[in-house]
Amino acid sequence: MKVLVINCGSSSLKYQLLDMQTEKVLAKGYCQKVGIEGSFSDHEANGVKTHSHRQLKDHKQALKLMSKFLTDKKIGVIFNINEIDAVGHRVVHGGENFSHSVIIDGKVKEAIRECIPLAPLHNPPNLMGIEACERIMPNTPMVAVFDTAFHQSMDKKSYLYAIPYEYYEKYGIRRYGFHGTSHKYVSNKVAEILDTKVDEIKVISCHIGNGASICAINKGKVQDTSMGLTPLEGLVMGTRCGDIDPAIIKFLSDKEGYNIHKIDDILNKNSGLLGVSGISNDIRDIEQAESEGNQRAKLALEMFAYRVAKYIGAYAAAMNGVDVVLFTAGVGENGIKVREEVCAYLGYLGIYLDKEANDSRGKLKEITTSDSKVKVFVVPTDEELMIARETKGLIG
Ligand code: AMP
Repeated sequence: MKVLVINCGSSSLKYQLLDMQTEKVLAKGYCQKVGIEGSFSDHEANGVKTHSHRQLKDHKQALKLMSKFLTDKKIGVIFNINEIDAVGHRVVHGGENFSHSVIIDGKVKEAIRECIPLAPLHNPPNLMGIEACERIMPNTPMVAVFDTAFHQSMDKKSYLYAIPYEYYEKYGIRRYGFHGTSHKYVSNKVAEILDTKVDEIKVISCHIGNGASICAINKGKVQDTSMGLTPLEGLVMGTRCGDIDPAIIKFLSDKEGYNIHKIDDILNKNSGLLGVSGISNDIRDIEQAESEGNQRAKLALEMFAYRVAKYIGAYAAAMNGVDVVLFTAGVGENGIKVREEVCAYLGYLGIYLDKEANDSRGKLKEITTSDSKVKVFVVPTDEELMIARETKGLIG
């Protein structure tokens, strides 16, 4: 069975074609600046990389180019686009409608559309991708895999905000959580490595990349997660502030005369590591600056690790214990120093870092010593594979 995984952003298209017998990636690509002047695309299959500068007017044209690459006589991996058995689409927000992946039909598309107010930047391009695919592959079944679905197992006491209840009823204001596909993949993977079932262990999953969230997974069910109504809440991120006192918004508005949109922009795009360090949203640049004695860079890194450690403590308490802590995504998989700094706070849990094991990037491995009471793992995430598995599960 061949499954195509599609992730559509407002001006981008990422795709992977997987053979689900072997779970091998047959081809993958990334089209950027779709609908904007200067489009370009990168495609890779059988170790051959192809770069294209063709202008892409919209997502339909981007998908046509993908189809051309996939079926090309020289570098193609299939003869005909109809050889693709199913398409799995990443959809960011499913609201309360979807606790699982679903086969896409008119009603599902309508429900995704209804969630646009909750994810105005993400759901419209996700829908655009679905509709463009339907035009190119009208007979191929499609599945929607939601970032929010895994978190739907949270209890009301975890997902409600303590604001008047009517706003939850009227507008669905609550914690939804994001990165669900990644948290699900890595928690299942770690259970597999430990030769146990995910519903027998308590896991704290730290997905820390440019966007970052942490998730308490109690015997396979999400008990709590750090992102909220939007991906702004929780950890210190590349450019997002994470948790702040909401009164700061009015305070800033009074002092600087900013309107609400300007403040929202500051909190999403100019805060986090970038805002504190004044240097970059990328940990690598900040670590470099810290090594040259920059004090703000040092402070940004300290705040970043401290916030992760605080959430781990809160979630260990909420679950009345934890068996495994895991790190994933760009910083989680590669940030040796960040992992060391986070683990330095966790001695009270019986977590003892094995510094030699931790001196590694992008590899699945345990990084705690054998006498550690709680195991810590680095688990590279693979959201595309998870989407392909969910798609196969529904279509296959
Ligand atoms: P992601 O959003 O998961 O792609 O993660 C991107 C972030 O990972 C970058 O902004 C960096 O902060 C971080 N990152 C990537 N590679 C490294 C590395 N080798 N060492 C430390 N951090 C890294």
